[in-house]
Order: sequence, then C-alpha cells, then structure tokens
Amino acid sequence: MADRAAARRVPFPADEVRGRVLLPDDGAWSGECSGFQAGYRHRPDVVVTAADADDVRTAVRHAAAHELPFAVQATGHGLGRALDGGVLVSTRRMAHVQVDAAARTARVGAGARWGDVVEEAARSGLAPLSGSGPGVGAVSYTLNGGVGLLAREFGYAADHVRSLDVVTSDGRLRHVAPDSEPDLFWALRGGGGRGGFGVVTELEIGLVPVERFYGGQLIFDGALAGDVVEAWRAWTATVPEELTSSVTMLDYPDVPALPEGLRGRYAAQVQIAYNGGRAEGERLVEPLRAVGPRLGETLRTMPYTESAGVYNEPDMPHGYQGANVLLGGELPDQGVLGSVLELTGPRAPAMTVLSLRHMGGALGREPEVPGAVGHREAGYLMVLLSVTEDAASPEADAMHERVFELVEPWTVGASSNFLYGRASRAVAGGGPDAHGSEQRRRLRGLKALVDPVNLFGSV
Ligand SMILES: Cc1cc2nc3c(=O)[nH]c(=O)nc-3n(C[C@H](O)[C@H](O)[C@H](O)COP(=O)(O)OP(=O)(O)OC[C@H]3O[C@@H](n4cnc5c(N)ncnc54)[C@H](O)[C@@H]3O)c2cc1C
Repeated sequence: MADRAAARRVPFPADEVRGRVLLPDDGAWSGECSGFQAGYRHRPDVVVTAADADDVRTAVRHAAAHELPFAVQATGHGLGRALDGGVLVSTRRMAHVQVDAAARTARVGAGARWGDVVEEAARSGLAPLSGSGPGVGAVSYTLNGGVGLLAREFGYAADHVRSLDVVTSDGRLRHVAPDSEPDLFWALRGGGGRGGFGVVTELEIGLVPVERFYGGQLIFDGALAGDVVEAWRAWTATVPEELTSSVTMLDYPDVPALPEGLRGRYAAQVQIAYNGGRAEGERLVEPLRAVGPRLGETLRTMPYTESAGVYNEPDMPHGYQGANVLLGGELPDQGVLGSVLELTGPRAPAMTVLSLRHMGGALGREPEVPGAVGHREAGYLMVLLSVTEDAASPEADAMHERVFELVEPWTVGASSNFLYGRASRAVAGGGPDAHGSEQRRRLRGLKALVDPVNLFGSV
C-alpha cells in the first residue's frame, strides 16, 4: 500500500452490515475491544460487531481491498498480537448454539462460549468436549486442538469437528467438510486457531453422551507440592482413559473473594474428571488421598452443567502471560521438577500458576479423518501462567524461559492453546512448534494458496 494512512481513512461501508460499526470516539468502542485478557487489548480504527457471516465477509473484503490490518476476537482469552489500527471483527453476537439431539451434533457460532454450548447440549443429555473455563470461546479453542475435561477418553475437541464455515481472504464463505474442502478440513482442525486461514463463522461439532461424571479437586498445602506431584506422576501411569486429571500449583492471593482456608496460601491441587460412577471414582483417587491431609476437597458426582467447578477458575478479566510445552511419554525427573516448583512457587517474580495436564489415551490417536493437531505422542502438557498487570513482565518471562529450558530434554512440542501475553511466545514466536515438520510444511503450503495476501497472519 503506497499510502497506508489514506487507506485507513477510507470509511467502512457501515450500510452493508447488519451489526454495528464502531469508531474510536464511539462509547461502545472500548468495551468491544476489551476481553478477558485485561493486560492489553486491540486498538483498531474500526470495530465491526458482526451479526452474521455476511458481516464477516464485508469486513474481510474491506480489509483485504485496502490492505488494512485485520483481526477477529470472540472473548479475548487468547489474545496474541493486538491490532494497532485496521479492522477488528468482534464475534460476540454470533453466539448461537443449535443442538441436533438425534445426530448428537451442535452448530456453534463464532462467538459462543463453552458455557453456552454445555447448557444447550445438556438439555438433550449430551456434552461437548469443553475445557476448564466456561467463558472460553468454543471456536478458537477447538481450532487449536482443545484439551477438554474428558480429553483422555474422547480425544481433542478438534477430532470431533464435522464441518466448518470459514470466510477466507478472497471474501468467500466456504463450507469446509471432508468431501468438499479436504485440505482445509485437515488444516483448520488443529492448525486454524490463531486465525491464519480465515474467520470461522460456525462449527458443526460432535457431542458425547455424558450427563453426569465424578470430578472435582483435592487441595493440599503447597508444602506438600513435591510429594503431590510425585504421587500424581506414579498414579497417572495406572488410571483408565475415562479419567483425565491435572495437578496445579499456585500461590493464592490474600483477597476476601477466596475461602478463608486458601487466602494467601500456596496450594497444590489435583483436578479430576472421571466418566464413571462415584464408587469407582472414590477407589481410583485413594492413592492421592494417601499423600496427606487436604486443605479442601470438592470431589463428587455432578451434572456436566456444573463442570466449571472442577477447575473453579476466576472469571474476572485480568492481565496474564504464559506459555506451554508438551512433554514426551515421561515427566521430567524429580530433581528437575523440584527446581521448577522452586522457580514458580511463592518466590516467583509474579503470582504463577503451574499446571501439568495428563495427556495420552484418545489424545494419542488420530481421528478417522486426520487433522493438523501435532505431537500426539505427548504424555503431559505443562502450562505456565503468571498474573502480570500489563501481560508483559520481563521478570516473569525470564522465569518462564528458565523453566522451559529445564524441561527441554523432555519437550516434544507445544500446544497452540495456552499461549498468552504480549511479551511471551504468543507474540514473539520462538519456543517449540505446535506441529511436526511435515505438518508445518503442509500448513504453510496451504496458507500460501488460501491467504496469498497474508491478511490473517502466519500459521
Ligand atoms: C482461563 C482459561 C482457561 C483455558 N482452558 C483451556 C482448556 O481447558 N483447554 C484448552 O485447550 N485451552 C484452554 N484455554 C486456551 C484457550 O482455548 C485459547 O486461549 C483460545 O484461543 C481462546 O479462544 P477465545 O475465543 O476465548 O479467545 P480470543 O482471544 O477471542 O481468540 C483467540 C484468538 O483466536 C483466533 N480466533 C478467534 N475467533 C476466531 C474465529 N472465529 N476464526 C478464526 N480464528 C479465531 C484469533 O486469532 C484470536 O486472537 C484456556 C484459556 C484461558 C485464559
């Protein structure tokens, strides 16, 4: 573009969309640009609050025609590179969920959050492959793979996608299914979550017949963190695929919103979701209870509509930065994990959540129609998240890098989900790839064909 400033002054064709078009002096502009990540946000010239796929097409065409920067946002949980100028499409209003109980599928709009899908599916005795937080957007989560509460039994959320509707940079709305667009169908399911191929306006996903499950947390004092992690390591080698779990260490802030027993306390907690009965669930967790006294326990049989209680994550927007690595079949040895606990514990430069998720089971198997989810051989996922006001603390970043260096010998790759913050790998790149080299080559080749003007950024 010879004169980018002139292009930015080209007015958006507001009369061609059903949704609202917001400019920076509009009262609603700031709220529409903000999301769950409160450490920074998009600063576009124009926000299109898309009402439907046609609005998305108009926004994409306008940005492509005038070579304007472009981004799409649903909830802001996974904000990576923020816009400075250009066009932001906000999908919040495209939050429809339509369940077909007989086919066990749901059509999920670009702005739907997992909580919306869980509620709607439960009316038919079904559940989606949702994750720890009900506020997370279902679409981007799924396009990045999506590690859910019952992941070891059912695999990645991406493995259950039946079809997608996507607007590509030529302004076309393409229906992507195994027969109609096989290459894009492969790429979007695991390689489409950072928006590199286009804007997905709707997903059709498979649902699973889960109404109730046994789950919750065992909460130990952080002084036992080393013992808890070692017990969990041994235990994960014994559990069935119907049981998915993680262990999380965090130094709770001293705030009144927390229960008295956790306020200002370093804790080690095991999160469990078991698709089975209570008696068998109780038997399975017995070796973990033997580690020591608990500060609290929330294990019970619960309806899937209460599944947010397994992790009980905060739902208030805040600033955070972080990244993840996928670890091979084994966890790092006890000495290395001890150093990781030391670096991320109460003496960390910012309040840090260290989480190890148990992978394997169905996550290790390709679905019938393969997708672009990488590194299925991973046995565990390590996620680091630090709460930092502007999502860019160099001290927290240096600590994360030190931890990732320590576990490097066990690292096989990374997930495209769980990448947060403006200073971290989410923006700067670097770190292990979410895809193997053959997958990466195929994704880049397809990207060059589908988005030759590179409107949507790298894949
Ligand atoms: C509290 C919390 C809990 C989480 N729990 C899990 C979990 O259990 N399992 C898991 O796998 N992940 C989890 N994640 C990671 C989460 O899935 C990713 O951050 C995901 O990208 C969030 O999507 P979003 O729409 O909510 O966020 P947004 O910030 O709105 O979107 C993130 C990015 O996705 C792209 N995008 C958004 N909408 C579209 C679209 N329609 N088409 C194409 N690209 C699009 C854009 O590049 C956008 O910047 C969690 C994250 C948080 C913060």
